[in-house]
Amino acid sequence: AIDVQQLHKYFGDNQVLTGIDFHVDRGTVVCVIGPSGSGKSTLLRCINRLEEPTSGKVFVEGVEVTDPDIDLDALRARIGMVFQQFNLFPHLSVLDNLTVAQTKVKKRKKDEAVEVARRNLEKVGLAEREDSYPAHLSGGQQQRIAIARALSMDPDLMLFDEPTSALDPELVGDVLGVMKDLASEGMTMMVVTHEMGFAREVGHKLVFMDGGVIVEEGDPRTVLGDPQEERTQSFLSKVL
Ligand code: ATP
Ligand code: MG
Repeated sequence: AIDVQQLHKYFGDNQVLTGIDFHVDRGTVVCVIGPSGSGKSTLLRCINRLEEPTSGKVFVEGVEVTDPDIDLDALRARIGMVFQQFNLFPHLSVLDNLTVAQTKVKKRKKDEAVEVARRNLEKVGLAEREDSYPAHLSGGQQQRIAIARALSMDPDLMLFDEPTSALDPELVGDVLGVMKDLASEGMTMMVVTHEMGFAREVGHKLVFMDGGVIVEEGDPRTVLGDPQEERTQSFLSKVL
């Protein structure tokens, strides 16, 4: 579960998040939509402390991650993050991409790490590509490898920041399919996305952000089909 309480974030004088309160239940998928610059990525990045919140609290599975004394490596090992740009290590094979953090951060023995990696490659449908290098894979394959890498750390939750936005349209479906499988296995997920179909079908909750605040949230079908706020209506009329 994720709990965010009165989160504020400034970059200099620029107030980017203004009093965000929200909750993600364990085993559920929350999708976040909103215009460019509304603070979606910043919110996600405050949850694993890639950004320092200016004030407010964030809890992950009951542990306060905004505690200044928290072990950041241990925290990030519990929170898988997948970005728009796949961020694989270009000089490492697929298998090595999946094992390096397991051995360094989780202190797993090499053969255990390899076993975990192969299980997760299987899960994303890329078991046969373990010896490939990232440059020889399509964007969609690279993103599925990035997901498998995050899963190999056995995270409590997964954060996705526009995971399909950099992909050619015909590759989007494979990545969304992997995410849908994960959701059905009960992974707690927070997904910033423009894929309204995914939000509607897979999301348990949809959050609309604008100007650093949550304008509206609720059942995805309700928010998409019958938005209550004028700002939500205006945004959806442009993207749907
Ligand atoms: P997009 O849909 O374009 O990804 P977003 O909703 O994810 O947008 P953020 O990336 O969270 O928006 O940015 C929110 C605001 O914070 C923007 O005004 C942006 O310029 C500013 N911002 C983000 N990161 C930084 C940073 N590292 N330093 C200064 N300002 C930043
Ligand atoms: Mg963003």
